[in-house]
Amino acid sequence: MKQVAIVTGASRGIGAAIAQRLGKDGFAVVVNYAGNVAEADKVVAAIHADGGKAIAIQADVASSADARRLFEQTIAQLGRVDVLVNNAGIMPPQLPQLAATDDDTFDRLVAVNLKGSFNTMREAAGKLEQGGRIINFSSSLVGTLLPGYSAYVATKAGIEAMTSILAKELRGKNITVNAVAPGPTATALFLDGKTPELIERLAKMTPLERLGQPEDIANAVSFLAGAEGGWINGQTLRANGGMV
Ligand code: NDP
Repeated sequence: MKQVAIVTGASRGIGAAIAQRLGKDGFAVVVNYAGNVAEADKVVAAIHADGGKAIAIQADVASSADARRLFEQTIAQLGRVDVLVNNAGIMPPQLPQLAATDDDTFDRLVAVNLKGSFNTMREAAGKLEQGGRIINFSSSLVGTLLPGYSAYVATKAGIEAMTSILAKELRGKNITVNAVAPGPTATALFLDGKTPELIERLAKMTPLERLGQPEDIANAVSFLAGAEGGWINGQTLRANGGMV
């Protein structure tokens, strides 16, 4: 039986690249999405075209009931769960400074990014197979601490903290828990609402002078999910071309 990886938020952007990469690595992949079934189906079709196995499952990670159902449906359809990639996340295109951040923006960021990662981690803690891997998503903004990102970065700093604590709590289960913290990466989440000049300026912040591509991040996830990443545990890996 193939090992099974759930990738949350895999209909677009970084998650789609991770799903395709893990499919090529030999995992049966669950392409989770919130609402975009057409895009999720395209990712499943691309994995099938590469000779892999994949299914799409809708679930809003902000809902603990949906997170539970995501794991139950995965086990019912694919028999097991070995890897959870907690990639689903949101960042509104216009993020005001803290003093001007409204309740809805703050609450939504916490619900999807922080509670969403918590919901699926809690399921994974009890349902992952021995040798399993949990890979969470932070952001290199936790290092740069740029003005305007306080609420978003607060959710990601919380994810980094939960990553290290859960790694310790899973002692004896042979399950690793790590986080990947991308820098600016060419997806809708990063590009929407920014002028070409701002995108250029942010891209030049890295010594490698370019934006990350979703595949750059998928490479890091593939390492942590694969046999050679097995000794990395409780860490946050910043994949950002050297920005911070
Ligand atoms: P995108 O906006 O391109 O894609 C987001 C994905 O998450 C979509 O598949 C979307 O599904 C899904 N999603 C959103 N909300 C939910 C939800 N409530 N439940 C389930 N799925 C959901 O984002 P990126 O690919 O850029 O970001 C991926 C991760 O990387 C995020 O955690 C982000 O914070 C992090 N990151 C990104 C950076 C960047 O520069 N791009 C930099 C640092 C970190 P649907 O299509 O159905 O809406």
